[in-house]
Formats: sequence, C-alpha cells, structure tokens
Amino acid sequence: MTYWDLTSIYPSFESDAFQDDLATLKTLIEELDALSLGDDFEKNATTYIEKASAVLKLIYPLSIYAHLTFSVDSSNQTAIKYIDTLGMLQAQLAAPAVKFQKWVAQFDDNTIDAVTSDLLIDHKFFLQELKQNAAYLLSNQEEVLLSKLRQVGANAWSDLMSKLTGNLQAEFELNGKTETLTLTMLRNLASNKDAAVRKRAYQTELAAYSKIEESIAAALNGIKGDVNITSEMRGFDSPLTESVHNSRLDLATLDAMIGAMQDKLPVFRKYLKRKAKLLGHKNGLPFYDLFAPINESDMTYSYDEAKQFVLENFASFSEELKNSAQKAFDDNWVDVEPRKGKRGGAFCAPIIGRQQSRVMLNFTGSFDGVTTMAHELGHAYHNWQLFDEHMLLAAYPMPLAETASIFCETIVTNAAIKNANKDEATYILEKSIMNSTQVIVDILSRFIFEKTVFDSRQQGPLSVDMLKQAMLDAQMQTYGDGLDKDVLHPYMWACKSHYYSAENNYYNYPYAFGLLFALGLYAEYQKGRPNFVADYNQLLKNTTRMNVKDVAAGMGIDVTKKDFWLASLGIVEQQIEQFIELTN
Ligand SMILES: [Zn+2]
Repeated sequence: MTYWDLTSIYPSFESDAFQDDLATLKTLIEELDALSLGDDFEKNATTYIEKASAVLKLIYPLSIYAHLTFSVDSSNQTAIKYIDTLGMLQAQLAAPAVKFQKWVAQFDDNTIDAVTSDLLIDHKFFLQELKQNAAYLLSNQEEVLLSKLRQVGANAWSDLMSKLTGNLQAEFELNGKTETLTLTMLRNLASNKDAAVRKRAYQTELAAYSKIEESIAAALNGIKGDVNITSEMRGFDSPLTESVHNSRLDLATLDAMIGAMQDKLPVFRKYLKRKAKLLGHKNGLPFYDLFAPINESDMTYSYDEAKQFVLENFASFSEELKNSAQKAFDDNWVDVEPRKGKRGGAFCAPIIGRQQSRVMLNFTGSFDGVTTMAHELGHAYHNWQLFDEHMLLAAYPMPLAETASIFCETIVTNAAIKNANKDEATYILEKSIMNSTQVIVDILSRFIFEKTVFDSRQQGPLSVDMLKQAMLDAQMQTYGDGLDKDVLHPYMWACKSHYYSAENNYYNYPYAFGLLFALGLYAEYQKGRPNFVADYNQLLKNTTRMNVKDVAAGMGIDVTKKDFWLASLGIVEQQIEQFIELTN
C-alpha cells in the first residue's frame, strides 16, 4: 500500500505547528477585519494585500491538511471538526474582502494603472478585476443577508440533493445474489462486460428515481429560482452571463465554442452508430450502452510500471515535466490504492503556500488508472508552475483548470496507442472517444438543459414531467440519431450534482472548454512550433493573472474564432475515423 505523506504539511492536528498556525491565523484575521483604509491608494492597497496574503498563507495549508486527511479517512472526527472550524474562519474573510473591494472601486482606472511597487504591479490584474466586479456587488447589508440565506436556502437544497441521491438504494441481482446497491454502484454497472447487466442496471436506476424525484425537483427549483433572483439583482442579464463573467470568459468565445461543437455533432453520431452496430443494436445506441466496453482488453499495469510509463512519456515532452512528477513520487505526494474510508475518484490538490501538491488516486492497475495518474500529475505540474505565485493570485478560472491535466493525459494516451497491438489500440482509442463524447455531446445536452430550466423557472417551478421532457429534448438535440430515441435518460438532472450549486452555475461548458483548449494546444505542440515548452509554461503561469482570451492570445490562439475550436474537434474527428477503420 502506498499512502501519501502529509507530515511535511503538518505532523498532526495536535502538533504545535498546526495549533500555533491556527492561533496565529485567528489573530491575523482579527487584524485584517480591523484594518481601516485611508486615501493613499498605494500605501493602503499594499497593507491590505500583505495582511490578506499572510492570512491565506496559513489558512490554505491548514484547511487543505484537514480536507486531505478526511479524503482518505472519512470517519476521522478530528478532521471533520477542523474542516468546520476552518470553514467558519474562511467565512470571516468575506467581510474585509468586500470592504476592500468597495474601497478599490472608488479609485479610477488610472490610479490602479499607475501603481509603482513590484508587489502592486504584480497584483494589477487582481485589483482591476476587483474594481470591475464591484459593479455587481450589492450593499454590505444585502451581501451579508444573501450569504447567510444561501447557507439555509440554496446550499441546504443542495445538501438535500446529495443526501437523497447518496442514500438511494435498489435491490439488484448480480452473479446470482440479490444485493442492495447505491445509485453510484448501479451507475457504475454501465461499464460492465455483461450486456444484460448494463440494461437491467439502467432500468433499475430509472425506476429508483421515482422515490426521490419530487424532492429533487423541489431542490432544483429552489436553487435555480434563487440564482435567477440574485443574478438579476446583481445586474447580470442572465445566470449564463454571470457564469461566463465569473469564468473570465466572454459570450463571443462561448458562442464560438458552442457553435463549433454543434457543427461537429454528426461526427460523434457516426461514432455512436458504429458502436451501436458493434454491440448489435439497430436503431442507434441505447443510453445504457454509452460506456459499454467494445472489446476485452486485459491491459494491466503494476503501480511501478504505470509510474515508469508516465515518467518516460512526460520526459518526451520536457525534463521539467518529468521532474515535477518524479518529485511527487519521491516525496510521497501520491496516495495510490483504494481502501476503506477513502473517497472514490481521483484529484490533485495544491498545498498553496508550501510549494507542494498531493494526488489522490484509486489505482487498481487498469489502463484508465494510468491515464488518470497522468491527468492528476498534469494538475500537479500546473501547480508547480504557480509555486512562486502570490497568495491572492493562486486561483485560475474553471475553463483553464483542466488545461495541463488533459494535455498530459493526451501525451500518455497517444504514446500508449503507438505501443499497442490492434486490439489494445482499438480499446484505448474507444475509451478516449467515449470520454470526448461525454465532454462534448453530453455536456452540450447539459448546457441546453440548464438554460431551459433557468428560462422556464422565470415563469414558475418546473414539474418532474417538465424536467424529464426538457432533459429528453436536450439529449435528442445533441445525441440525435446516435442514440436510440426510445432509450434515453430522462433523469440525468437527478444524478448530476453540478446543477445543484448556486455558486457554480453552468458547471458544464468549462469541461468542453478544457478538453478542446488542451487538444488545440497539443496540436500546436505536434506541429513542432518553436519554443513550445517555454510558451506553454508561461501560459500556465498566466492562468491566474489574465482573462482567458488573453491567456490564449499569448500563444497566438484566438478563442473567439470558431476555427480554433473546429481544429480541436478535428483531432477527435480523426480519432473517430481511425476507430471506424479499425472496427471495419
Ligand atoms: Zn482534472
């Protein structure tokens, strides 16, 4: 078993290091809260930035330490206690932050533009963004009221949704035994090798929703209604405009990308129809076979083999990429195998302020495990590029969050296809296309669905039947004749938690952006563009300091033009053509 080592963050919750930092943090937050801001822009802005940065330099490692501990040990009561404590301390940062933002907004653009110290020059984008976003702030009282009501309103609806779906269970017969399965377990059977199991799991899943559909619909109506109201009060045209703004994007870019995705839908339908044919279906693929394996590949990797494979191929890109992954392995930043109490999935967390990352995997030796490892180490490389960044500039927007991860995943997937025999190549290729189909076609259906719900919610709550119909319509519009129109999934809104976050609306198109942007960059790399590696590193560094359009422009990419998106989609199209040929 390979556990990650968290002791270089803190030896334990009880340690002096942890307890002293926590005590210091509380004092620093009080100081920040008591800070009064005067007339001198440069002097006062510097004081605020220094104090806020000192707070963040402690609160990040403290809370990440608690979260990481919890993620591999869900019954750890001490971790749960400190997650709560640190969450409340985090909430105390809102008031001074809003106060500072309103203070910044009083100054004109020239004042911000004319700052002279290195510290403030580095924070220029941050300050300009604060000023711009201040236009969408409400009065202090309204902001406090809204954030408190969010806790007991939209966020409570969201918790209800998680509880209902988390506790939903159904009886299912597997290998001759009747078992009680959770929703996640049922949904995971979509990739089972046995066609009959996949179909029954889908039918069981759909039937199970009837127990919770009314409550989940109420939660969705509550959240979407809240967002419609608050978004309008803040002065946004719609929740979509607000989401695009918060993603540091613009509508021209979003339109160009969505337009290109729509143009290429027939290509994905071609893949779906081929997959349907391979699995013996006549009228397109039934929803329950979207994740079906098309051949049996027993490509397995030991953890060491996976590590070596990833390191080798990272080295083919750059020594620095390889070194960043090597450091993650050498310093025990990776938690490898699944175990009891450890959460599912995989993630990478930056230990902001400490120049470290941690990667959680649930590695079981499958090929997916290798690409996931590459993906998460790609995130770690993005963090690596930001190790020296200022505390207030630690965050990058959602659309750019998956750039480095998908880029690394692509490096490793392409290398694997090159080394594979025909069956293995077909398997890897199909996995990759299956994933892209989710990120392009399914994501587009979620985008259309969410827009419909926001629009309709203006007139009143949507009934369960209306929600089901809206989902089916969205799936028809995107999957088209690629799927069997009689076997769609009318309840996809009930199982995806993304619709239930009032803070992150349209938590869908950023995924498509991430995939297509990374593929577009990869295409540039393959063309042998000079200085690619240096430019790419700079691009990752820019992700916290610029709007998305400007980050891309640094590489000569115009994301507001459909051509860029079509070219990225062209890479998936080539894969699909290759797949069609391999399966002829
Ligand atoms: Zn990721």
